[in-house]
Parts: sequence; C-alpha cells; structure tokens
Amino acid sequence: MAILPILTVPDTILKKKSKPVKKVDDKLRAFMDDMLESMYDAPGVGLAAVQVGKLLRILVIDVSPDDEDPDPHFYINPEITWTSEDLAVYNEGCLSVPEQYADIERPAECKATFIDYDGENQEIHAKGLLATCIQHEMDHLNGIVFIDYLSKIKRSMFVRKVKKFVKEKEE
Ligand code: ZN
Repeated sequence: MAILPILTVPDTILKKKSKPVKKVDDKLRAFMDDMLESMYDAPGVGLAAVQVGKLLRILVIDVSPDDEDPDPHFYINPEITWTSEDLAVYNEGCLSVPEQYADIERPAECKATFIDYDGENQEIHAKGLLATCIQHEMDHLNGIVFIDYLSKIKRSMFVRKVKKFVKEKEE
C-alpha cells in the first residue's frame, strides 16, 4: 500500500467531473486500498478518487467513532436516488481544504446505489454524519468542493489560507 498525495484547492483537477468505473478488479482494489490508507493518514473521514488525482467515481468513507474499530466503506459509481426534505447543518471540512471549516446545509438523509469493494450492487439509506459525508464526497465526483457553496469573498479567503498552509508545510 502507498500513501498518495492529496490535492488541495485551487488545483483545477478538483473542478473536473470523474468518470464511471468500468470494472472492479484487483488493480482497482489496490488503488482503493491506497485511497483508504491515504485517508487514514491525513486523517479524514472521507476521500474521493479525484482528490488523489484520479478521475474515477470512487469514494471511501469511514465515519466510525474514534474509540471504535475502523469501519471503511467503498462506494463505486455511487448515485443518489433520494434525498429527504429535512435539512441538516454540519460544520464541514475537507482534506483538499486543510484546516478550514464552514457550516453547510444539506438534506439530512439520502439513499444511494453503488458498487462495493467486491463488485456487488448495493443500496444504502444514510442518516446523520454518513448522509452529509456521502453528499460531500459525491460533490467531488462532479467537480464541486464545499467552499463552492460559500460567498465569493469567503471562498477566496479560504483558498488564500490553504495556499499559505501548503506553502508553510513545504518549508
Ligand atoms: Zn472533501
């Protein structure tokens, strides 16, 4: 396994739309293992393939509490099929926008179809943090980062802070 570098805003790759996965094979599983390791290393609770520079419709999410065993799930070619009218606000963060957080309102629950790590079709009804996380990560597959929901002024402030953070980390 390997830790892959995570792209940060304003990298233009993050604006691109990811393509569906055609086949779930060992090569893809090896890449997904790397995604998982990179997410844990960061550390984060969700990661989309585009964030490590691969434009494929793959997410990995683990929202298990810190004091419990890891519970990672892979979502390949996910599609949101239903969202609740009820909304929920979470203070969201993103590995591509390190150290920055903002309240984002999204449907409180969602249903999604996807293909799992073994290539099987699955369906999920997500609530709470998982519902937020799936919607946040799904956005990445369509070239959207959570700061795109903020005002232009706030967004450019976040991007400026991220650039500074990345630069200081490199020094
Ligand atoms: Zn993100």
